[in-house]
Amino acid sequence: MDQQPSPPLGFPCKSCGNRMVYSPGSGALFCPYCKAEEPIPSEEIEAPEYRFDPDSSQADAPMWEEAGDLSFVCPACGAETVQETLSMTVTCPFCGSQYVNETKTNVPVIRPETMIPFSVKKEEAARRYTEYVRRRLFAPRAFKKSAKSDSMQGVYIPYFTFDSDLACDYSGRGGRYRTVSYTVEVNGKKQVRTRTVTDWYPIRGHEERYFDDMPVCASKNADTELLRKIRPFSLKVLHVYNPAYLAGFMAERYSVGLGDGFASVRPQIERDMESYIRTKAGYDTYSGMTYTHHFRRVRFKHILLPVWISSFTYKEKRYPFMVNGETGKVAGRAPVSPLRVLLAGLCFAAFFALVILLIALVNAVDAAALALSAPFSESTALFAETAGLLPAAEEIPKSLSGAFPAGAPVLPL
Ligand SMILES: [Zn+2]
Ligand SMILES: [Zn+2]
Repeated sequence: MDQQPSPPLGFPCKSCGNRMVYSPGSGALFCPYCKAEEPIPSEEIEAPEYRFDPDSSQADAPMWEEAGDLSFVCPACGAETVQETLSMTVTCPFCGSQYVNETKTNVPVIRPETMIPFSVKKEEAARRYTEYVRRRLFAPRAFKKSAKSDSMQGVYIPYFTFDSDLACDYSGRGGRYRTVSYTVEVNGKKQVRTRTVTDWYPIRGHEERYFDDMPVCASKNADTELLRKIRPFSLKVLHVYNPAYLAGFMAERYSVGLGDGFASVRPQIERDMESYIRTKAGYDTYSGMTYTHHFRRVRFKHILLPVWISSFTYKEKRYPFMVNGETGKVAGRAPVSPLRVLLAGLCFAAFFALVILLIALVNAVDAAALALSAPFSESTALFAETAGLLPAAEEIPKSLSGAFPAGAPVLPL
């Protein structure tokens, strides 16, 4: 071997001793030097859950010890990543800045118990991005033609999912709409009119429900809008966390803690519960409702989800994008060409004008057909008369002739 590789750090190759990396989709470690493969023992499991007390913010979960030794902080954006890297410089996947990997941190974090390993390879993710950009309607042509990722990095993004039992005491008033009719006199004539009144009833009760797998992104650095767009991930069946899946990849350390994470998902759970209570009560409207929520047995999972992160620099501006490392779904930002927007606007206007024109044309044709239909039905009636199918015009009873609207065909087809 002419190339002298650096000494291995995490997973040495059994054949040549060099450093192996996780190969997406294969479920194995791969040696880039001698091409050896080593399967990663994996089991798909229902992720274990740990208790979390929202009042004290205390959790009973094991700590992620090795994260301390392998953590780096980006001096530009503050993103903390866990990576088993040998290179002296690290490119931050979140802000694109390069830094020397010296700034380690040692704040203890909760260990991820489960994860979804990458199954989309880097080349596949890059190809999907190129396709995605080509489909961008308003992106400038030059951007579409040249778009390729600056440097794509496979990053595991931290998520918490919360489960909780929620009990809720509620009270207020429920209203039912009722229509009442009343009589008014208009110009000396009596008229019946209706209006809607609301009958109010006091309501009070207790409801209990279970909320399952409410996800919260635990990253402050990742572009959450893009993350939302590349969902879903299959959260039900996950792989046991194994550092081998991180070989050659990064994992972001969570920057949103459990307390903040739960606080961000809590209003949504409460809104769901309140709307459930109202739907179940079945009134038409509500007034003065108060709800007291008691969260019980809050459980959480800390999971890592695979995302290819990169950006494309166009006219000195950085356009980030992400590819779902499990499904290959892409979301990205792209410049908007004012010319294309204008053209699209013009096309839309032209289309609109065409539709109006067509409607006018159809109406005109209808009017012409109506004008033609009168002599047509007359001659038909005349023919029918001579053929003896219909009584002669003067013989048609008044009641019957009156039943045909003017211009309508008189033949009983
Ligand atoms: Zn090897
Ligand atoms: Zn950064």
